[in-house]
Amino acid sequence: AIPLVTAISTTMAARNGILVKDRLSLERMRATGTVLFDKTGTLTTGTPGLTDVAATAGQDEDRLLALAAAAEADSEHPLARAILDAARQRGEVPQASGFTSLTGRGVRAETDGTVVHVGGPALLEELGVSEPSALAERTRDWREHGSTVLHVLTDGHVAGALALADESRPESHEAVRALHERGVRVAMVTGDARNVADTVATRLGIDEVFAEVLPDQKDRTVAELQRRGQRVAMVGDGVNDAPALARADVGIAIGAGTDVAIESAGVVLASDDPRGVVSVRTLSAAGYRKMR
Ligand code: ADP
Ligand code: MG
Repeated sequence: AIPLVTAISTTMAARNGILVKDRLSLERMRATGTVLFDKTGTLTTGTPGLTDVAATAGQDEDRLLALAAAAEADSEHPLARAILDAARQRGEVPQASGFTSLTGRGVRAETDGTVVHVGGPALLEELGVSEPSALAERTRDWREHGSTVLHVLTDGHVAGALALADESRPESHEAVRALHERGVRVAMVTGDARNVADTVATRLGIDEVFAEVLPDQKDRTVAELQRRGQRVAMVGDGVNDAPALARADVGIAIGAGTDVAIESAGVVLASDDPRGVVSVRTLSAAGYRKMR
C-alpha cells in the first residue's frame, strides 16, 4: 500500500505539473547535494537562431549556408532547425542524400556530388581537421559572445562556419538562485564548446561546468559527481540525456522531452520551466516533514 503522505505529495506534485514515476526518486530529492542540468533545451530555450556566417576565401556565404541546410534537412536537432530556417529565408535549399546523424558531433550528407559535414568541435576532432586561421578570429569572437560555432566542411575541407545563439530561458537564473538558497550546488553538462558553456554558466551563476562532453559520457559526469559522495539529481530533455537520467539518484525529465528521456526519469516536469526542479525539492522536503 502507498503511505498516505506519499499519496498526498503525489497529488500535490500533480497539481504543480510534476509527474512522480518513482516515489523513491522524489524522496531522494531532499538529500540531493548537486543538481546537474543539461544545457541545451533545458537551461537554454533549445531553439537557437543563426546570427552569423563566415566562409573561407573564395566561398559564397549564402551558398555555404544552403549546403549546410541541405545536410541538416533530416536532422531533428534544434541547431539544424535554425540553419534550415535561415537558409530558406535566403533562398533554395538543395536536395541531399545519404544523411547520417553523428550524435553529439553533427551531421553528414551528400549534395550536388559534394560530401557536406556540419558540426561542432567534436566533429573537427574526429575528422582530424583543424580550423583554418582565416576563420579563427571570427569564431573566437563568436564564442566569446556565447554563440555556438558550427563548422561546415565540403569534401573534408573546412569551407566556413556558422554562429548560432541559444538564449538562456528567463527562468533558469531564478532556478539556480533558488537551489543555492536551499544549499544545493548547481552544475551543468553539455556537448557544447567550453567557451559557450562558460558564458552561459557565468550568466546563470552555475558552480561547475562539464563542457564538450559526448552524449554517451554524460552519465560519467553523473558518476564523477557521485564519487565525491554527493547525491545527484540530473535534469535533461533529450535522447542523449537518458543514460545520465538513469544513472542519477534522481532523474528529472523536463518539458516536451523525448520519450526516451521520460522513460529513464523518475520524475517528469510537465512544463519546460527549470524552476520546476525547485518545486520537486520543496515537495520532497515537505513530504519528509509530514512523515515525522
Ligand atoms: P547538448 O549536450 O548541449 O544538449 P548535443 O549533445 O545535442 O548538445 O550536441 C552536442 C554538440 O554536437 C552540439 O553543440 C553541436 O556542436 C553538435 N551537434 C549535434 N547535433 C548537430 C547537428 N544536427 N548539426 C550540427 N551540429 C550538431
Ligand atoms: Mg539537450
